[in-house]
Amino acid sequence: MKVLVINCGSSSLKYQLIDMTNESVLAKGLGERIGIEGSVITHKPTGKEKVVIQKPMENHKVALKIVLDALVNPEHGAVKSMDEIGAVGHRVVHGGEKFSDSVKIDDEVMKAIEECAELAPLHNPPNIMGINACKELMPNTPMVAVFDTAFHQTMPASSYIYPIPYELYEKYGIRRYGFHGTSHKYVANRAAEMLNEKLEDLKLITCHLGNGASLTAVKNGKSIDTSMGFTPLEGLAMGTRSGDLDPAIITYLMEKENLDIDGINNLLNKESGVLGISGVSSDFRDIEGAADKGDQRAKLALDKFTARVKKYIGAYAAIMDGVNVIVFTAGLGENSAAARKDICEGLQFLGINIDEEKNNTRGEEILISAGDSKVKVLIIPTNEELMIARDTVKYA
Ligand code: ADP
Repeated sequence: MKVLVINCGSSSLKYQLIDMTNESVLAKGLGERIGIEGSVITHKPTGKEKVVIQKPMENHKVALKIVLDALVNPEHGAVKSMDEIGAVGHRVVHGGEKFSDSVKIDDEVMKAIEECAELAPLHNPPNIMGINACKELMPNTPMVAVFDTAFHQTMPASSYIYPIPYELYEKYGIRRYGFHGTSHKYVANRAAEMLNEKLEDLKLITCHLGNGASLTAVKNGKSIDTSMGFTPLEGLAMGTRSGDLDPAIITYLMEKENLDIDGINNLLNKESGVLGISGVSSDFRDIEGAADKGDQRAKLALDKFTARVKKYIGAYAAIMDGVNVIVFTAGLGENSAAARKDICEGLQFLGINIDEEKNNTRGEEILISAGDSKVKVLIIPTNEELMIARDTVKYA
């Protein structure tokens, strides 16, 4: 079966067409600036030159129509006709407590996804737009929703409950949901395969370190805790997000800086993290570059980032009664030898010992722990699209 994977953001549309007989990518692309001036789709069929399509795209339906036309185009297409596309998989950020796995989309499921939009007002609405656009353009093709939160639904209550009045959990669903679940699940499974072990027998800490970043404790194949929370703001210091804070800082700042709700949300989501500390950039490459040149705040931002990742690794080793495997994935985790080295430095007491030469690798699957390391340390490039496509075949 050929599966189209769709990931819609507020003004973006990422897609991949995957042939599931051999899990090969037939074409992929990215639509940007949808609904605003300068809309553009960059379409890349495998083995052919990429095509840049610049046309007004007032909404996701118009953009998706252009993508579908590109996919069947005789010159730069990847299939002869739309009939070859057997199913569509949609990335949906928030599945609340309703979805602990992927699900075939029907009217009832759509209603439930819309209800979850209240918990993810920035993310679910564009996902819903993408599903609706597909429904209109491909009414007979089965569709599956794959949720970022689903993998974490196995967390015990002691991990997901916040120490605030319990009634607020019941009334508003305030609890830890966790995100990046598709990525954590993919790399955990892949790690077990690479090590020739059963996932159920392992205690893993998966480190998804990108612009957004989260760690997950995976025990017996299940997520038992994760660093992102009610929203993707909790946990690590990220590109522009603060991660964990004393909650009292929020009201204090609102008063002192005269900030309203939008103002404080903006500060914590867009102006904080390593950007906020360094004042240099939200991009780790820029910060590493500035730190190398002696910029002290850039160095401090990296140190804060590292310190927090280490703190979570220690915490998760404690709640799992140990750890056998650490996995690094996503932009920084896959590419930055320096970040991995700094994070693992000083964790020898946990049995974590990396081989510096093997660690000098970028973006490929590799075991980087030393031969005598008790804990296996791996780099595994994430592949959320493939995971979505696999679930789409399973549930369509
Ligand atoms: P997201 O999908 O959350 O936008 P990515 O997983 O693509 O993020 O990761 C983006 C981050 O990875 C950026 O901060 C970028 O600087 C960092 N990154 C990518 N390559 C490197 C590299 N070679 N060295 C250091 N950081 C890198």
